[in-house]
Amino acid sequence: MNLVLMGLPGAGKGTQAERIVEKYDIPHISTGDMFRAAIKDGTELGLQAKSFMDKGELVPDEVTIGIVRERLSKEDCNKGFLLDGFPRTVAQAEALENILADLDRRINYVINIQVDKDILMERLTGRRICKNCGATYHLVFNPPAEEGKCDRCGGELYQRADDNEETVQNRLDVNMKQTQPLLDFYEEKGYVRNIDGQQDINKVFEDVDALLGGLH
Ligand SMILES: [Zn+2]
Repeated sequence: MNLVLMGLPGAGKGTQAERIVEKYDIPHISTGDMFRAAIKDGTELGLQAKSFMDKGELVPDEVTIGIVRERLSKEDCNKGFLLDGFPRTVAQAEALENILADLDRRINYVINIQVDKDILMERLTGRRICKNCGATYHLVFNPPAEEGKCDRCGGELYQRADDNEETVQNRLDVNMKQTQPLLDFYEEKGYVRNIDGQQDINKVFEDVDALLGGLH
């Protein structure tokens, strides 16, 4: 099964990715892991990617796409793969279509985990950290017994700047803007399967599992 996983930050993609690769025994291919592996193996494309990363520059598409091609051609992908974080743009998605056509394969599903923006905001802004011992809490999912106070040491809880409403809102807006054309591209091809990510984590996986079970 050849899968692409999509979802905004906070949608629970990481958890679902873990469960999918465990149950279906396919490699989880994220862009970061792919770059690290190519650099470690010292492939020519890996070295090219490294030279851009060392300069703090974005790795150009042609290098990224070459690395994806190398990765998907490896034997462990024979049973399939779960792509996560690639493609990011329509140009990359088109390149992926070409790579897969050369390998005589196609994407089965683009799994899109959907969560309303309000709920993502709640999930992503709720984290609180103890100034004293570093323990983390979440206002909704793991609240401290007493508001603003660490259960462990009584220290004061604070919100990291990364977690504040404005930063999170901005991150979500940028992400939505980037992913919409990609979703439209895949929608047109009939690959997209929307999964309700607002349910309990286990129920989300049940839905994913029901979808993937049909591929066997
Ligand atoms: Zn504490």
